[in-house]
Amino acid sequence: MPVSEADAVAASPVPFVVTHPCTACHGHGMIDGQVCPGCQATGVGRFFHGTKANLKLGDRIGVGQRPNFGKLDRTTTYVYLTGTLDAATWGAELALGEGSGRIYIVEPTGPIENDPNLTDKKFPGNPTRSYRSRESLRVTGEVTGWRGHSPEQLEAMRDGLRRAKEQGVEPIDD
Ligand SMILES: [Zn+2]
Repeated sequence: MPVSEADAVAASPVPFVVTHPCTACHGHGMIDGQVCPGCQATGVGRFFHGTKANLKLGDRIGVGQRPNFGKLDRTTTYVYLTGTLDAATWGAELALGEGSGRIYIVEPTGPIENDPNLTDKKFPGNPTRSYRSRESLRVTGEVTGWRGHSPEQLEAMRDGLRRAKEQGVEPIDD
């Protein structure tokens, strides 16, 4: 995996900041009133995927795999990606499995759409810049040297997820 100085510097999870805006549309998602073809109108130039899986350059992350969180007795129908390191860090930390988690740089191979779990009325406008796709993601690199959330932040997030589960709130994946 390529390890670049730039990635290490950008690896602190600043909430909701797109680390690499699309260069074609300068992060706006539109060019002259048309949807930017380079970033599918997201304004994101580099997407991330947090997981506990060990992957290598060129691997595909596909649908039909076990979800990061939620019910175990089903497979996902989408794969998830984000333009912010903070959201990817949560994904890596909260993913099922052992270990500290990994954050990969990924490219979508098909259409992507807003992740409805993070774009409801509570979070209008997709502030975490989270997306999903029915097509696989291609691994093009890995972010190293990223700093995780504090134990207190992690515990608070796990509590929140646990409460949501008790209330019967499952991640939207259909
Ligand atoms: Zn663009």
